[in-house]
Amino acid sequence: MLEFVRIEREMPDKRPAPLRVKDFAEIYQAMSEIRAAAQASRCSQCGIPFCSVHCPLSNDIPDWLLASAEGRWQEAWLRASATNAMPEMCGRICPQDRLCEGHCVIEKGFGAVTIGAIENAIVEQAFAQGWAEPISPPVERREHVAIVGSGPAGLAAATRLREQGVQVTIFERQDRPGGLLSYGIPGFKLDKSVVMRRIDWLQRSGVTFRCGVSLGQDVSLAELRERHDAVLIATGAYRARRLEVPGASLKGVVPALEYLVAENRREFGDKLPASKDRLLDARGKRVVVIGGGDTAMDCVRTAVRQGAKSVRCIYRRDREAMPGSRREVLHAEEEGVEFVWCETPEGFEGARQVRAARLVRLRLVPDPRGGRPHPEPVPGETRQETADLVLLALGFLPEPLALARGEPHPETHPDGRLKVNPDSLMTSVPGVFAAGDIMRGASLVVWAIKDGQRAARAILDWLAADQKKVDGRAAA
Ligand code: SF4
Ligand code: SF4
Repeated sequence: MLEFVRIEREMPDKRPAPLRVKDFAEIYQAMSEIRAAAQASRCSQCGIPFCSVHCPLSNDIPDWLLASAEGRWQEAWLRASATNAMPEMCGRICPQDRLCEGHCVIEKGFGAVTIGAIENAIVEQAFAQGWAEPISPPVERREHVAIVGSGPAGLAAATRLREQGVQVTIFERQDRPGGLLSYGIPGFKLDKSVVMRRIDWLQRSGVTFRCGVSLGQDVSLAELRERHDAVLIATGAYRARRLEVPGASLKGVVPALEYLVAENRREFGDKLPASKDRLLDARGKRVVVIGGGDTAMDCVRTAVRQGAKSVRCIYRRDREAMPGSRREVLHAEEEGVEFVWCETPEGFEGARQVRAARLVRLRLVPDPRGGRPHPEPVPGETRQETADLVLLALGFLPEPLALARGEPHPETHPDGRLKVNPDSLMTSVPGVFAAGDIMRGASLVVWAIKDGQRAARAILDWLAADQKKVDGRAAA
């Protein structure tokens, strides 16, 4: 270890921008075992590993880096998967520059250890070598848990519950599982085969998936509570934040997720209705994306790959204040995306179809309380940006649960998030838990995985307490 003084930080090989914009394949090649071991040996095995402190899952990063550096890959896999139900997703899509790698102590001066790439290399070895065996719990239990939603929180909870022998059924309203992993994240960041490999692994681990089933429409919460010992709601946050400006309802002004879902469906080989297909395709169009987060970056990079005439990202603050990963911004710039800082739309022009965005110039005013600078309009400074397709990536809110009249509804916050007991993640309805974006608000996949794992532990405690009551009643 401590090889950081001798070995330079290296990312996995990245396909050149002119080549990678021609398809939706992942832009990084897998890192070879030899390179990953060499990169892992750069870790200085800190007494207080700030990488782990800033990993939402508190992964034992120095431990699995040491095992990788010494070629003990199976041990690295066991350690990595002990705290993370889906390390292959996090290695690919975590904004490591804001999390583990951004806090690596050798980051300044030497360049952070490439933690995400090594996490990926560990998982790819595990699947290739057959170490990632399906779950085979020591005892099959009778208790049954229903999970509503098959995104990262639902899948992570299912993994941890199956490890303890609990029977799990996941209900998914879409026609295939994976939620945001399948339909929200583009293939150039997370290949669909990686998501489907994990779904297949969960099926072989005994998890039942029931797709095309909507809560409130095809099954009620009351039915789920009656048939199962506990219910976990992990339906995510898919309701787009709206932009209340004139022209926002013109044809061609589209919420980001609707656009991304359409492209992800094409990648799965699905056929879209012709009118949707045309509307949600950037080929030959001048595309304007409003927003500065990771979803905005996914949109601009998707539009480039679809063959847009031009792609511009409009953000109301400056580069430093962008919430998206720096790495994603860099990838977008390499791929030909132009960024416009400190502007925001005050309206859209067009008869039926959008033709232009009317943009107002902003200046950043420092926050006296030390927060992010506040954007303020510069009087009289407006301009028009020609646009055939405008994608709004302004964040997402949870959709209200569609529950039957008369059945108890979990209490919600004003923005639609489900209220939970912070310790047990149980909602106001006994035996009904919540995890991921529906509980936390739109956030990173790694936080949803954490919530799913926590919810599984809380459900196991609930089931154990319930069993004690049953045993107590039987003894009496
Ligand atoms: Fe880093 Fe994410 Fe992996 Fe944690 S889960 S070590 S933050 S890549
Ligand atoms: Fe290794 Fe960096 Fe973590 Fe320290 S902070 S243990 S050097 S990865």
